[in-house]
Amino acid sequence: MRPFAYFAPGSLSGAVAALRDAVPGTKVLAGGTTLYDLMKLGVETPPAVIDVHRLPELATIDAGERELVFGAGARMADVAEHPAVRDGYPALAESLWRAASQQLRNMATVGGNLLQRTRCSYFRGGSEFACNKREPGSGCAARGGHDRTHALLGTSDACIATYPGDWAIALLAFDAVVDVAGPRGDRTVPLAGLHVEPGDDPAREHTLAADELILRIRVPVTPAGRGSTYLKIRDRESYAFALASAAVALTVEDGVVGDCRIALGGVATRPWRATEAERVLRGAPLTPGNARRAGEIAFAGARPGTHNGFRIELGIRTVADAVRTAGERAAR
Ligand code: SF4
Repeated sequence: MRPFAYFAPGSLSGAVAALRDAVPGTKVLAGGTTLYDLMKLGVETPPAVIDVHRLPELATIDAGERELVFGAGARMADVAEHPAVRDGYPALAESLWRAASQQLRNMATVGGNLLQRTRCSYFRGGSEFACNKREPGSGCAARGGHDRTHALLGTSDACIATYPGDWAIALLAFDAVVDVAGPRGDRTVPLAGLHVEPGDDPAREHTLAADELILRIRVPVTPAGRGSTYLKIRDRESYAFALASAAVALTVEDGVVGDCRIALGGVATRPWRATEAERVLRGAPLTPGNARRAGEIAFAGARPGTHNGFRIELGIRTVADAVRTAGERAAR
């Protein structure tokens, strides 16, 4: 690992000031569960890190009447076990439980989790592999290579890397927003506008500036929270990244779907909202056939590569199963 400078501001205002004055390439350090990994691999080589994980202002969890508010530095384990989340928004809790081992959930933060980087093995594998994300213009070794876990949706000629997170998928289904701070002031970014598709610039993964810091995540209260689930299909059940996942939240009355939210994970280059599938289910009877149809519509635009085509059917079934589970919870 290359030497780097370490700063630990004692306050939020100090952290914002430190980011404002930071040398280019400086990274924010939260739980450290991803950044240190990438620094050891030589994929990330920041000249300095600004450690915010002890700032009390970022560690709050608040369940209000209108929204749930999670400080960016709140631990994944603490948010997952919060009664308002566990009982009222099972999709949020499940996305955290299934995201990582208990040890990692105890360390990792809900803000840092949003910005974790892809698991593409060529990206993490070092300079022997062409990778437009790590070295712009060098090519993409995954195209025509081992693409079993790579994306089916939102890909470009330059990059097919899958967004690896679970938490952001569930947040997307609930129309969450993210408050950020920076030297130009605070602003709010919809979760749907936080991550970007690779296009011809895969190195750019989100819309935050280098000197901006995530303060908190806010989730609007909705009756669809109780009728929700996060289903994650993976190679092994204990701890692995998704081959396909779906966050579904519904309201159901007399067997007919009212509100409907569907977001996909593990299959796209960014958290992916299946808006057309939602539209088809709204107002429709909650039947296995309609659940399957929603899955088929969600994957209608999928572009398989060499080894990942099997995940289209897997994804369709994942959506259908998640719709069924969410419907059962909504009807209770
Ligand atoms: Fe790099 Fe993206 Fe290609 Fe992976 S898929 S090798 S991250 S450019």
